[in-house]
Amino acid sequence: MKIATFSHNGRTRIGAIEGNRIQVLAWQDNMRSLLRRGITPSYSYERVPLAEATLKAPLIPGKIIAIGRNYAEHAAELGNEAPKAPIIFAKFPSSVIGPGEAITWRSSITTQVDWEAELAVVIGKRAKDVSEADALSYVYGYCVGNDVSARDLQLRVDSQWTRGKSLDTFCPLGPYIVTADEIADVQNLGVKTTVNGEVMQDSNTKHMIFKVAYLISYCSQMFTLEPGDVIMTGTPSGVGMGQTPPRYLADGEVVTVSVEGIGEVSNPCKVISEEKQD
Ligand code: MG
Repeated sequence: MKIATFSHNGRTRIGAIEGNRIQVLAWQDNMRSLLRRGITPSYSYERVPLAEATLKAPLIPGKIIAIGRNYAEHAAELGNEAPKAPIIFAKFPSSVIGPGEAITWRSSITTQVDWEAELAVVIGKRAKDVSEADALSYVYGYCVGNDVSARDLQLRVDSQWTRGKSLDTFCPLGPYIVTADEIADVQNLGVKTTVNGEVMQDSNTKHMIFKVAYLISYCSQMFTLEPGDVIMTGTPSGVGMGQTPPRYLADGEVVTVSVEGIGEVSNPCKVISEEKQD
């Protein structure tokens, strides 16, 4: 199923997308709370034309665990060695936005905003110390994520990544959750970014250094993964900072990230111009 959180006639609900309509599955508007209560939405109350619905972020995760430098070509383009173990950082759940919502920032805070198309894994069952062999059975589904990154904050101003990765609006997720049963091989999906239609990233999840099952098992040794948590699995090469000269997002540009078989998420960029502060 393709499980969307959407608004229609002023109400936010959860439904399954089937062709050009949405089967409304739950009156509740909180996908994470449904997952935490172990409820798989299944009963259809009504149908809504897809064209009349506004898709929102498919869920607001409890925690977002993100993986750095998980594609060798991306590590290399920023001058880094491929890691020997997963590099783990966090994004605040308050950074999540949905399809079509603006990625926005103040020019006084950052002027180097970059894109990172990523496969996002939505956990469906509590996972603690799970084996790599069992790990994928803890996945509810997958969506597309953009790990938007303020490079100046991430790499120059701060000595760690939290702020540059967690500004409000810096985690577009969507367009819906594709349940795990619909993805035959999560390690063979195209991953792509365009900016104003120009292809910037074009790779495949088969190039991940640490595969999804390994990441879930590895993370679960340290953090209990709860239903509704999300793992952002890293981005391939082609980020703006890796270009010569570096190329960052600008006001009015539209950045689109996609994962094959899952969908795409487009967001316009909105810069609030302010004097740079020290
Ligand atoms: Mg990333």
